[in-house]
Amino acid sequence: MITCTNCETPQFLQITQSRVYFEDGEVINELSESYECTLCGSTGQYVYDEDRDEEAVSGDVELTTERPKFA
Ligand SMILES: [Zn+2]
Repeated sequence: MITCTNCETPQFLQITQSRVYFEDGEVINELSESYECTLCGSTGQYVYDEDRDEEAVSGDVELTTERPKFA
């Protein structure tokens, strides 16, 4: 889950831009989303790399392990 580092809640985050990268026209390799917090105005970016199964965030958002990927 992605949360605002200032507000410490995902409640006010909005996706302002979303991009998906394809390979061979069908397989999703990478997902890129830009977020903006409508409460405090912070912005950040979330990227998911399908090939490496890696998530990364930058800016004023953070990934929380509220729901662990590996139980
Ligand atoms: Zn915020």
